Amino acid sequence: MKTCIYPGSFDPITMGHLDIITRGSEMFDRVIVCVLTNTQKKPSFSLEKRLEMIRKSVEHIENVEVDSYQGLLVDYAKTKNAKIILRGLRAVSDFENEFAMAAMNRSLSDEVETVFLMTRTEYSFLSSSMVREVAKLGGDISSLVPKKILGEMDTLK
Ligand code: ADP
Repeated sequence: MKTCIYPGSFDPITMGHLDIITRGSEMFDRVIVCVLTNTQKKPSFSLEKRLEMIRKSVEHIENVEVDSYQGLLVDYAKTKNAKIILRGLRAVSDFENEFAMAAMNRSLSDEVETVFLMTRTEYSFLSSSMVREVAKLGGDISSLVPKKILGEMDTLK
């Protein structure tokens, strides 16, 4: 059974995230979307709300689970018997950070492999922070986040 962990802040989950999760679910037996508590970011949505929004967005995909973790990703992966970390790559600007993170995770654990999926071009400029900004300013974000969570975005205004 090939399990991968898809970690992130998901503040909030976007269509770009959902695309990576959907494609990952076709490649792996099990995808665990894991909301990690990032000490450098103060989230707009509470952990509970982010988990709820992800669960709603992925409920139609059978082999996807949603979880959260405070601590090192490689330790979490071990507890789930997962050897693969799934990440999305948008632009060259993502590369440096992702490269450093993958290298760090590799040095922390020899057993985990990071796998990258290229973003779909229509989502290549889409980020959670962009969604928050556009929503705050009253712009139309209906094509940027999963329909099921669109109502939740009103709290950003
Ligand atoms: P982080 O806070 O760790 O950057 P995010 O929740 O923003 O996490 O994103 C989680 C993962 O999803 C990262 O690998 C990120 O590159 C990827 N991702 C974010 N937005 C998109 C998108 N529009 N298309 C593809 N991948 C994306």
